[in-house]
Amino acid sequence: MAQTTNGSMKGAFLLKPETIAIRELPRPRPGAGEVLIRVRAVGICGSDMHLYDTGRIGSVVLESPHIPGHEMSGEIAALGAGVTSLAVGQRVVVEPGIACGHCHMCRSGRYNLCGAVRFLGIPPHHGFLTEYVVAPAQWVYPLPEALSFVAGAAIEPLAVGLQAVAQGGVGPESRVAIFGAGMIGLVALEAALARGAEQIWVVDVVEQRLGLAKELGATVVNSRQEDAVQELRRQTGGGPDVVIEASGAPAAITTAFKSAAKGATFVAVGLPEAPTVALDYTAIVRSGIRIEAVFRYANQFPLALDVAVRRRERLAKLVTDCLPFAHTAEAFAVAHARREGTIKVVVEFP
Ligand SMILES: [Zn+2]
Ligand SMILES: [Zn+2]
Repeated sequence: MAQTTNGSMKGAFLLKPETIAIRELPRPRPGAGEVLIRVRAVGICGSDMHLYDTGRIGSVVLESPHIPGHEMSGEIAALGAGVTSLAVGQRVVVEPGIACGHCHMCRSGRYNLCGAVRFLGIPPHHGFLTEYVVAPAQWVYPLPEALSFVAGAAIEPLAVGLQAVAQGGVGPESRVAIFGAGMIGLVALEAALARGAEQIWVVDVVEQRLGLAKELGATVVNSRQEDAVQELRRQTGGGPDVVIEASGAPAAITTAFKSAAKGATFVAVGLPEAPTVALDYTAIVRSGIRIEAVFRYANQFPLALDVAVRRRERLAKLVTDCLPFAHTAEAFAVAHARREGTIKVVVEFP
């Protein structure tokens, strides 16, 4: 349709570690069951930063220019054949993990563990830092009126937080400790509050981040200044019964396990740089700790949109930096600098 005369668009490519360049590329066309979306906002995630910093993420290596970004919002620009559930001009968000729908994990509802998933933003699949993207309509959700495009870009990380508290079985009576006051730790805090938890502790080493956690209603522990295990044990009367590890720092992982009450649920969300972490395995067994590992999320986007509407003023505090698309390289540099006050960097499109 619109792309018959001008079939190109701009995309932000990661060329090699710490090098982003905006280049022209062909504007995609939606196939049957797909929609073309004009991107309006994209959040920069820890996994984007890992790729930016090192040129790899897990076993995936950056081999050719790659468009990062998997946290997005936008508006429908065109519909592919057969799409009737969405309309041109509609504001939307896209769930970036396009699961196969056929394997055992997909069929059992745990599609986040699909072995054939196309995760948009992780090589070899381009992400959303481009003017237009195509996505299957099935993975596209309407963005409620009450949410801005920038707020829409925070739906994906919020889905991770909701998955974490769901797997942790967090409820009104839970005593929850969250390790790490970065984006994932703070959305886990919001998710825990949304599930009715009132007793939430957040542990970090950065005072500014702890300040935000406190402002959002958590009791905070600075593990650089205090013995976090002792403090959590004392303040919770025996230890938290849900521990959410959202930092990925080996020292925090060790402390998080030590602080857990007997019979507690340990929710593993953060990924350490090195795959191996030394743990007191016998102590974990003897304490009857239940370990829940969270890899992305399944079926959380509708709830995330709902929670984001109800808690929008609070969640807005987590987006600390907004830069225009033309300055994507600078946005990555801001995220890379890891300043104390930076939680979420979002790229906005004009
Ligand atoms: Zn992310
Ligand atoms: Zn599958």
